[in-house]
Amino acid sequence: MLSRKGFNGFFSLFVLIFFITSCAGTTKGLPLLNLLPEEKEVELGRAYVPYAIEESDGLYPDRDVQEYIKDIGLTLSRKSERRLPYQFYLVNSSQVNAFALPGGPVMITRGLLLKLNSESELASVLAHELGHINARHHAKFLEKQFGLNLLLNIGALLFADRPYGKALLQFGQVGAGLLALKFSREQEKEADQYGVLYTYKAGYDPMGMIRVFEMFKSLERGGRPPEWMSTHPLPDTRIQEVSKEIEVLKPTGAFITDTLEFQRIKSKLVQTQASFEEFEKGKKAFGQRSYRVALEHFNRALEAYPDNYPARAYVAYILAMEGRLLEAERQSETALRTMPDVFLTNYVHGYVKFLQKEHTASIKHLQRASQLIPDHASTHYYLGRNYEATGQRSKAVEHYRTALELSQGRAPWAEDAKERLRRLGALW
Ligand SMILES: [Zn+2]
Repeated sequence: MLSRKGFNGFFSLFVLIFFITSCAGTTKGLPLLNLLPEEKEVELGRAYVPYAIEESDGLYPDRDVQEYIKDIGLTLSRKSERRLPYQFYLVNSSQVNAFALPGGPVMITRGLLLKLNSESELASVLAHELGHINARHHAKFLEKQFGLNLLLNIGALLFADRPYGKALLQFGQVGAGLLALKFSREQEKEADQYGVLYTYKAGYDPMGMIRVFEMFKSLERGGRPPEWMSTHPLPDTRIQEVSKEIEVLKPTGAFITDTLEFQRIKSKLVQTQASFEEFEKGKKAFGQRSYRVALEHFNRALEAYPDNYPARAYVAYILAMEGRLLEAERQSETALRTMPDVFLTNYVHGYVKFLQKEHTASIKHLQRASQLIPDHASTHYYLGRNYEATGQRSKAVEHYRTALELSQGRAPWAEDAKERLRRLGALW
C-alpha cells in the first residue's frame, strides 16, 4: 500500500497536524532574535512546494497555461516591495482556492480559475497572495508556532547527507502547519490592501477583487462555500474596505479588465474539466480500494485528456499491483515524461521498476521522489529493498530505519522491514 494510513490517495499530510501543538509556545525570547532570515524564509517556502503540489492533485500539465499564470504573477510581483524568487503555479485541485508559501511560491487551483471571468480577477487573486508574502505573514506564523531554532534546523537538515527520522517528522509538521494555515482578520485586510495596490500599479482594473469576492459570496449562497473562505473570512465589511481602498486610488484611464488570452486559457481548462472529474472519482474509488472501478475512471480521464498524468500514474500503480508489469511500466514512463519532476511520477515509476527488479533505475527515481518529499515512509522502505537487493547493506539498514521511524511502525510493510533489519544484523 502506498498511503500513510489508508488515506484517500498516495499520500496525505494532514495526519501530521496533530503534532503541531506540541511544538508551539517556544518563542518567548527577544522579538528581534526570533526573526527568520529572508534566505531561510525562501528556503522553507521552496522546500514545501512539492508538498503543496501533491496535496493539490499535481501541477496542471499544460506548459502554455503555466506560462500564462507565471507572466501575470511576475508582472504583479514587480510592483511588490520585496525582491524575492516568486513562483506561480496552477494546480489540478477542483477546490476553489489560492494560497502562498513563505518567500515566493503562489498557487492557484484549477477550480478557482474556472470560476473567474476575467484577467483582472485572476490578477487580484494572485496579488492578494503576494500581499501575504510581502507582509511576511507566513514567516510570522512559523516564528510564532515553531520557534526559530527548529526552523533553522529544518533548513540545515534538507542539505544534510542523511536526514534522520525525527528531523523528517518535524519537517512534515511544519509543512502541515503551512498548508493548513489560517490568517487573522487583520492580516487578510493587509493582504487585500497590498493586492489592490499591486493590481492598480500593474495596470489592472482594481475592481477585479470586488468581483471575485462577489463570486465567492454567490457560491456561499448557493450552499457551496469555496475552500478559500475557510481560510479567508469574507464578511461584507471586507468588500466595503476594499471599495474604500479603490476610491482612495481614484483609478482613471485605461485599465485592463480582461484579455483574449485569459479567455483562451480558460477555454483550455473548460475542455479538460471532464477528465479531472473522472480523475477525482477514480481517486475516491482507489481510497476505498475498489481498484477495478478506479481503473475505469482513470482510463476515462485519460481518454478525455491524455496529459492527465496523475490519472496515468494511478493506472500504472494499479496495473503494477495486479502484476501487469510491462503495461504498468509503459504507463509510468509516459506519466514521467509528461511531468518529470514531481513526487508522484518518480515514486510510481520507481515502484514499478522495483517490482521489475531493475534496482538501479528504481533507486534513481525513488531518490528523486525522496528529495522532493523527504518524509514519505514508503519511499524509504522501497529504497531499502533496492539497496538490500544490490548488496548495499548499510544503506538498506538506514532506509529501513527511516521508513519505520516515519511510519511509526504502522505501515503494511512494517513487520517485513523489522524482519529484514534483524536479518541484516541491525536492530530496529
Ligand atoms: Zn488571504
